[in-house]
Amino acid sequence: MKIAILGGGISGTALARLCAADGHRVVVLEQAERPGGLCKSRRHGEFTFDEAGGHILFSKDRRVLDWQLARCGGEAGTVRTVRNTKIRWHDRWVPYPFENGVGHLTPEAIVECVAGYVEAYVGRRMGAPCPANFGDWIPWRMGEGFARHFMVPYNEKIWKCDLRTMASDWVAGRVPEAPIEDILRSAVGIDTEGYAHQSVFWFPRHGGFETLVRGTVDGGGFTLQCGVEVSRVERRGESFAVDGEAFDLVVNTVPLPRIEPAFADMPEAVRADVRALRPISLVNLMIGVRLDEPLPDLSWVYLPFADQGPTNRVTYFSNYSPHNAPPGHGSFLAEVTHRGELRPDAAWVADVIRALERAGILRREQVVLAEWCDNEFAYIDQNLEFGARIARVRRWFDDSGYLTFGRFGRYEYHNSDQCIARAMQVHEHIRTLAATGRRQSLRLP
Ligand SMILES: Cc1cc2nc3c(=O)[nH]c(=O)nc-3n(C[C@H](O)[C@H](O)[C@H](O)COP(=O)(O)OP(=O)(O)OC[C@H]3O[C@@H](n4cnc5c(N)ncnc54)[C@H](O)[C@@H]3O)c2cc1C
Repeated sequence: MKIAILGGGISGTALARLCAADGHRVVVLEQAERPGGLCKSRRHGEFTFDEAGGHILFSKDRRVLDWQLARCGGEAGTVRTVRNTKIRWHDRWVPYPFENGVGHLTPEAIVECVAGYVEAYVGRRMGAPCPANFGDWIPWRMGEGFARHFMVPYNEKIWKCDLRTMASDWVAGRVPEAPIEDILRSAVGIDTEGYAHQSVFWFPRHGGFETLVRGTVDGGGFTLQCGVEVSRVERRGESFAVDGEAFDLVVNTVPLPRIEPAFADMPEAVRADVRALRPISLVNLMIGVRLDEPLPDLSWVYLPFADQGPTNRVTYFSNYSPHNAPPGHGSFLAEVTHRGELRPDAAWVADVIRALERAGILRREQVVLAEWCDNEFAYIDQNLEFGARIARVRRWFDDSGYLTFGRFGRYEYHNSDQCIARAMQVHEHIRTLAATGRRQSLRLP
């Protein structure tokens, strides 16, 4: 088949590589000057930074992890790190996830957290129904203490809204749900490990996270056209046309609100749903520092409180690979979310850095470089209407003969490994289509 793939992020390039290996003619159409999307990295002097905040290679799915590592040059091309993540909780460093680190809080806060957790646990056992909104879900699941001491301030910082306007159904598997035994163990001082699937991760030795996409494109056997603004996609009988060129199949991975105007036959009601899918954006501040001594052995830290500035997470990026910063230097990525209102300038950067200094992460006089990158599509706005809206949009695509997937091509809260897993599922679907010649609705589990 001749297949057009819209968007050259990891979703589009991974699918292109898989389909090209089957002998299909595949063309990836990418608007930017190079592929990579959210996985892109860039150089500033001798520093390498990821553009959309700190990215790591990991997966619960061994097949996907092996695929990722193979694209990055295997074990030799990557650096393996044992994750060490912390929360900057007022004056102290608390291991992450917060429930597993509860024993490191003040005695009063430990009591509040454990008492609240037990109360919530009993409440659920007595049949307290799962709230539909995230703001009420937090105390229902974690209790009032955890809510007050971390979950509410941190989530308000990242989502920039009243948490009661957010749905709760996306949380499963995202927000750690530690067993009560782990909380009690941690409260009496026995350290427990949360998020075990992520306890070890990898990172490309050279070139930043973008190396994953380069390794997917190189030798991939497909055509990549960059700098292409797709303006018209339409059905022509049993086949399709993209800007007038005929294809047997079109697969979209571009953020839906960006590509919606190009789909000529999309019904008006679906268009209205797509236009309402607003993203949460992310400014990533890329900071280079001069070092007198090595950075602490941290992977990343969370900053839940307002007095720590607007940053919600700081990645100790030069700890991921020694090649991310020149000798004698280190680097950080500071992530700040927004809803389209943030316009970074030098004064804003200085404020963020001052706040990082207050939080004990760096000293201002160490900073030799500070650049930022604004990523419009970073997180999904999980508002109360989102579930119904995206279901209608996906249904139209899945039944129309076009395929759509990707973090914002399907609006699934996926990391790159899950995008690759999806690419593998879509690839299977295309194999069936090629073998039988029969178009069926795409059904992704
Ligand atoms: C802060 C943050 C941290 C993350 N951390 C991790 C992590 O640690 N590990 C991990 O695996 N994943 C992580 N992710 C997730 C990961 O970045 C995404 O899952 C993945 O990059 C999404 O790839 P994609 O191809 O689906 O979408 P995108 O990367 O968004 O690709 C879409 C592509 O479409 C292109 N495009 C846009 N408009 C058009 C148009 N009109 N025509 C043609 N092309 C167009 C874009 O330029 C882009 O290249 C993180 C994401 C964020 C925001």
